[in-house]
Amino acid sequence: RAEGLPRLYGDFVAVDGIDLSIGRGEIFGVLGPNGAGKTTTLRMLVGLLRPSTGSIVVDGVDMVARPQDARARIAFLPDTPYLYDKLTAREFVHFVAGLYSVPPEQVDRRSDELLTLFGLGDRADDLVEGFSHGMRQKVVMVAALIHAPKVIFLDEPTVGLDPRSARLLRDILRQLADRGTTVVLSTHILEIAERMCDRMVIIDKGRVVAMGTVAELHEQAHETSSLEDIFLSLTGGPADAAIASVLS
Ligand code: ATP
Repeated sequence: RAEGLPRLYGDFVAVDGIDLSIGRGEIFGVLGPNGAGKTTTLRMLVGLLRPSTGSIVVDGVDMVARPQDARARIAFLPDTPYLYDKLTAREFVHFVAGLYSVPPEQVDRRSDELLTLFGLGDRADDLVEGFSHGMRQKVVMVAALIHAPKVIFLDEPTVGLDPRSARLLRDILRQLADRGTTVVLSTHILEIAERMCDRMVIIDKGRVVAMGTVAELHEQAHETSSLEDIFLSLTGGPADAAIASVLS
């Protein structure tokens, strides 16, 4: 639960008082045009950025008062996977498991299972410096799941994944959600939001412009057409006119 989250960069208001309440086991999408404030919002929710005021509570734990306890309950996958190139995939996963104090007897089993699930079983002992973007994403995903987080935040998770891997990720997130893990993801890809998310928020210029299920968004926007049309009408409309005048 987040209440009244504003974030200023100097005088610039990147996020202007966002209120969110996301239920256990829900897959929740954060949508919005470039620069809307999605990454800033996610970074506040995971404790990487301090909101100017407001409160964030994760699984009953206050992020500002008890940041370490709150962070122990979450995983965050940034849009660019950060890895140590001179570690193998397995070493990286074990390193992250150590940071989260996962009991050693669980680490081997869980890391083997997860690396295999993500199709990295036969590359587990290769240095990640030789991995493609999608493979790096998968290593970070495995590392994120190693401490069985209660809430997973993903910033643009499907960028760089091939269709099979994107589908795998979707299926895994749904299974995690069915078992009570909460999933919060930002995406530009409306088809993903529509297929994956139970509910979503559309942010524009740092403010919430709509929130709900796809059906509720249709009602709020008085639109019977696609999620794309709703998104465009709520966030300033398509750029057709501008394109036409530039190209003419
Ligand atoms: P995109 O879809 O393009 O990734 P976003 O919705 O994730 O965009 P943010 O990265 O949250 O948007 O940025 C929101 C606004 O805050 C933008 O106007 C951006 O320029 C500004 N901003 C983000 N980080 C900083 C920073 N460190 N310093 C100053 N301004 C910033």
